[in-house]
Amino acid sequence: MNAFKELGLEDHLVQAITDLGFETPSEVQEKTIPLLLNEDRDLVALAQTGTGKTAAFGFPMLQKIDVNSRTTQGLILSPTRELCLQITNEMKLYGKHCKGLNVTAIYGGASITDQANQVKRGAQIIVATPGRMKDMISRRLVDISKIEYAVLDEADEMLNMGFFEDITEILSYTPKEKSTWLFSATMPKEVSLIAKKFMDSPTEVTVGHKNMGSKNVSHEYFVVGARDRYQALKRLADANPEIFSVIFCRTKRDTQKVAEQLIEDGYSAGALHGDLSQNQRDVVMKSFRAKQIQMLVATDVAARGIDVDDITHVINYQLPDEIEIYTHRSGRTGRAGKTGISMVIASKSEVRKIKSIERIIQKEFIKKEVPSGMEICEVQLKALANKIHDTEINQDIEPYLNDINSLFENVTKDELIKKFFSAEFTRFFNYYKKSKDLKSQSSSHSQEDYRGDDNSVRFFINIGSKDGYDWMKLKDFLRDTLQLNQEDVYKVDVKDSFAFFNTDESNKAKVLEFFTDFKQDGRFINVEITEKKSRERNRRGGGGGGRRSGGGGYGGGSRHRSGGGNYGGGGRRRNERSNDSGSKSESRGRRSDSDSSSRSPRRSSDFKPSGGDFARARKSRRK
Ligand code: AMP
Repeated sequence: MNAFKELGLEDHLVQAITDLGFETPSEVQEKTIPLLLNEDRDLVALAQTGTGKTAAFGFPMLQKIDVNSRTTQGLILSPTRELCLQITNEMKLYGKHCKGLNVTAIYGGASITDQANQVKRGAQIIVATPGRMKDMISRRLVDISKIEYAVLDEADEMLNMGFFEDITEILSYTPKEKSTWLFSATMPKEVSLIAKKFMDSPTEVTVGHKNMGSKNVSHEYFVVGARDRYQALKRLADANPEIFSVIFCRTKRDTQKVAEQLIEDGYSAGALHGDLSQNQRDVVMKSFRAKQIQMLVATDVAARGIDVDDITHVINYQLPDEIEIYTHRSGRTGRAGKTGISMVIASKSEVRKIKSIERIIQKEFIKKEVPSGMEICEVQLKALANKIHDTEINQDIEPYLNDINSLFENVTKDELIKKFFSAEFTRFFNYYKKSKDLKSQSSSHSQEDYRGDDNSVRFFINIGSKDGYDWMKLKDFLRDTLQLNQEDVYKVDVKDSFAFFNTDESNKAKVLEFFTDFKQDGRFINVEITEKKSRERNRRGGGGGGRRSGGGGYGGGSRHRSGGGNYGGGGRRRNERSNDSGSKSESRGRRSDSDSSSRSPRRSSDFKPSGGDFARARKSRRK
C-alpha cells in the first residue's frame, strides 16, 4: 500500500501526492498526519523549514474541511508574504483533486479588494500574514469566527518579527473550540508562551532535537583575519564552481556592499534586504529561483521565507548575534532530502561562539582552511574539464568548423587540449599565483574584531537581565522606543545589570539624544558609547571582565568601495562589464592585498571563450 495512504489519507489526496512525485512521507509528516487525522487536538511541532511541514499540516486540513461549504474553516498564519504565497501554492497543489476547493492568500502589498473578492467567493482556507489579516478583520472583509483549524507556521519567526499582538488579536476572533497547530523551527521562551496561552494541552512532536538544525546539513568554519573576510568568501565561491548559495550578512549595508562587490568582481550575485522595494526584492528572488543568480546576499529578516530547494551552501559572512538565527540560516540548505553545507567565515574570537552553537544544535563544526589559490586553480580546471566532457555537441556549429579546423591544422590533439584549458586556467592561475594563505594568523584582527565596522557604534546601556531583559526584549525595546528597524540594532549582549548593543553610525545621534533624559519606572536609563575595550572597562569599573561583550568580534571586515548600486542581475552583467577592468583593479588594490593579481579571475576579459560563456550555456541547459 502507498505509504501516504497508510497514514490515513484519502485517495484523492494520495493521488495529488503521487502527481507531485513524493514517494515516502518525511519524518514530520509521519509523526503528525495520523495524529491530526485521528483526533481534533492542539499540536506543537518543532520542525525546520524544508522538512515537509506544509504537507504535514496541509493534508490533514484538506481532508478535514468540507469543500462543499463556502465557510472559512482553516486559517494558516505565516510570517512573510513569500511564505504565504508559497504555502498557498503548495495547498493548491495538494488539493488539486478536491473539487470546489478555494485557498486564498492574504498578504500586504497587493490589492485588498481583490483579496476580499476572493474570500467572498467562499474561501475554505485562508493563508495570511498577520498584518494584512488584522487589517481585513477590522474592515470586516473576512470572517474567521467559524474556523476549525488554525495553523501558526514558523511561529518563532512571527514572534521575532514582532507579531505577538497581531496574532493575539487575530486569534481572539476565532472560536475557542478550534484546533491550533503550531509549527516552529526553534523553541524560544516566547513560543512556549504562545503555546501556553492559546493552546489546550498540545501534543508535542519534535523532529530532531529542539533548536537543532536539519540533519542533512554539515557545518564548517574557516578562521580568517577580519580584513580577509571578503577574500575568503570569494575563495569559497571559487572552490565550489557549482555553488548556489545564500550569504548572510548582519546589516543591510554590509549586505548591499558585499553583493555589489561580488557583482563587480564578476560573480553572479544579488542583494536582498529591507531597503529594497518589494518590486526589487521580487526581481532578485525571481532571478535566484531561476538560478540566474548563484550567490544571494541577504539579511536575516529579508531571507525569511526563502524556501528554495536546491541551495548547496549557506555562507555566514558574519555570525548572527543569536544562536536561533544560525539554525534558521543553515536551514535554508539541506531541504527536501538534499544535503547542504553551512559555512561560517569566523575570526579567532568568534570560535567561542561557534562552540556554543555546536552545543545547541548538537552537531560538530568541521574546522577547515580557506582553500589556497592553487587548490582553487585545480578545482576550476577539473570542473571545466568535466563540463566540456559532458557538453552536448551543438550541430549548428557545423558551418563554422572548416575555418576552425584549418586554423588548428598543425596543432596536435595534445596541444589543443593544453591550449584550450590554459585559456581558462591562466586566468585563475595569474590571479592566485602569488596569493597568500588566508589563515587566522595572517592579519592582525583583535582590535578590528572588537570594534567591528568603522560605521558601527557600540553602546553601553544601564539595564540588563535584572530588569527583565533578554536580548530579544532589549532589541524590541530599543527598536520600539527609538523607532528603528529590526536590523538597525544588533550585537545585543545582555548582562546582569547592563547590556551592550550596536547601531550604525547614522543612528548614533538619535540614540544619544533619546537617552539624554529618558526615565523608566522612575529611573534614568542612559547609554554611553564604548570605544576601546580595555580603557572602557577600567573607566567604568564595577562590571569587571563581565563587561566585555560576549557577542563581540562580529567585525565586518569589508572595506569595499561601493559599486554601481545594483541589487541584482550580476550574472548578466558579467559579460557586459568584461572590459572595464581598470576601475576594478583600482578598487581591489585598495581593498586588500591578499590576492595578488589586479583582476578578479571571474572576469573574463583575457580571452573570448570565457567562464561566463560556459556558465551561460549551463544555465540554458538547466531551463
Ligand atoms: P516545506 O518544509 O513544507 O517547505 O517543504 C519543503 C519541500 O519539500 C517542498 O518543496 C515540498 O514540496 C517538498 N516535500 C514535502 N514533502 C515531501 C515528501 N514527502 N517527499 C518529497 N518532497 C517533499
